[in-house]
Amino acid sequence: MLGTADRARGQTEGRDPLPKTLPGAVCAQKVKCGRPNCRCAKGELHGPYWYRFFRQGGRLVKEYVRQADAPGVRAACERRREEERQLRDLLARGVGRWRRLLSAVREVERGE
Ligand SMILES: [Zn+2]
Repeated sequence: MLGTADRARGQTEGRDPLPKTLPGAVCAQKVKCGRPNCRCAKGELHGPYWYRFFRQGGRLVKEYVRQADAPGVRAACERRREEERQLRDLLARGVGRWRRLLSAVREVERGE
């Protein structure tokens, strides 16, 4: 499910500085406005507009991103992904060390 409340947020938040990192990914989408006589009803959609998709409490949220902010928001999403990748690496190395330590302790316990 997409969060409809989030669509208006991008327009009302003002010019807050972008956070250094953000979850999710920025995607461009073309949209239908819903007016029956509009060109988009015949398949000629509006846009593209930019949105950031991210998970919040297990729910997929779609947030409007101003075109001017799209490169910055996209970069912030990339920085977050890079941070998470580094964290996973760190965790994997930590688990590896912990396992080697544990097997060393067990060798000592067995009197090897
Ligand atoms: Zn339209």
